Amino acid sequence: MGYERTNIAAMAGYSYGEQPEAESVIKLNTNENPYPPSPAVQQALSSADANALRIYPSATAPELRSAIAALHQLDADQVVLTHGGDEALRLAMTTFVGENQGFGMAEPSYSLYPVLAAVADANIHRVDLDDNWHWPPQGSESLNRAGVKLTCIVNPHAPSGTLATVPELSALATALDGVLLVDEAYADFIDPDQGYDSSKLIKDHDNVLILRTFSKGYSLAGLRLGYLLGARDLISAIAEKTRDSYNIDGLSQLLGAASIGDQAYARQTWDEVRRARVALLAGLTQLGFSAPASHANFLLCEVPDASSAQAQALYQGLRERHIYVRYFDAPRLRNKLRITVGTQEQNQSLIAALQQLLQAPT
Ligand SMILES: *Cc1c(COP(=O)(O)O)cnc(C)c1O
Repeated sequence: MGYERTNIAAMAGYSYGEQPEAESVIKLNTNENPYPPSPAVQQALSSADANALRIYPSATAPELRSAIAALHQLDADQVVLTHGGDEALRLAMTTFVGENQGFGMAEPSYSLYPVLAAVADANIHRVDLDDNWHWPPQGSESLNRAGVKLTCIVNPHAPSGTLATVPELSALATALDGVLLVDEAYADFIDPDQGYDSSKLIKDHDNVLILRTFSKGYSLAGLRLGYLLGARDLISAIAEKTRDSYNIDGLSQLLGAASIGDQAYARQTWDEVRRARVALLAGLTQLGFSAPASHANFLLCEVPDASSAQAQALYQGLRERHIYVRYFDAPRLRNKLRITVGTQEQNQSLIAALQQLLQAPT
């Protein structure tokens, strides 16, 4: 018997994607932006003053928070900054779900959700997405019956990349008794032609939180910076009560502001990723893979013979060629690979390697 709480002893930890050390690998496994952060971030980093770290950072980060609020056309008290999107999820769990209370999630989705729910000793209620990875009509009812306090969905959906519309999300927010957290970790990669603007949800609903992160769109996964948008009451419960007072360090405040201040640069990288996404899908389709239209910076690809044996073999074969993609040993995902959209050059190397692997005698 250990000293930890029984739910901690019983749970399994999060299994994160590999972070290989070698520079030469082609890393298409954890959905980072393949382009560097804005030059403004490098500049801010170079001119940062170590002596400024002597004192505590601002507890409320007004400059960065206002910049974020302006970007989403909200007020600063509708924004709370977090140590990566992952802390936002943990804080939402802490704030809205008690021990033995219900937590709802779409299945499949981000595998951190059930881990955080297990830490909170919450009861997990999974709603199976339909064949097109959409929320089924009866899903919300079952969560309400179970008294679910918080439901997380990810949009664009991970790992499929499919997109729910704002009216669909609005209907879901209305249908749910508890809080709906829309995890928009990948929203920066949605084609502007889609006209997707979820900030309207915040204005129309008192039970919606939207999660954003600098990790993917702004090429700052190493910094650990994210935020939640929501109605004032939801945000103040977190901002004023459950978060650590200094949860955003001074460097993150500085670099985050530099990054979000350079929208032109960020948009350019998103455009590049979208262009590369089209080309990558075309290349993979030619090799016999199939993937739904993705609005994120990854593709969920069913392997040519639709078998889990082939998916595993290709994952391993790529790995031996120093190309990392993600394989999930989970229902509906075993015969697929999740491939991050890299630079055009990285994607071409991937296609060439897959072509070789598929031609090799097995
Ligand atoms: C990457 C990601 C996050 C947040 O990641 P952070 O690096 O902690 O900001 C949240 N949800 C999903 C689905 C993600 O893929």
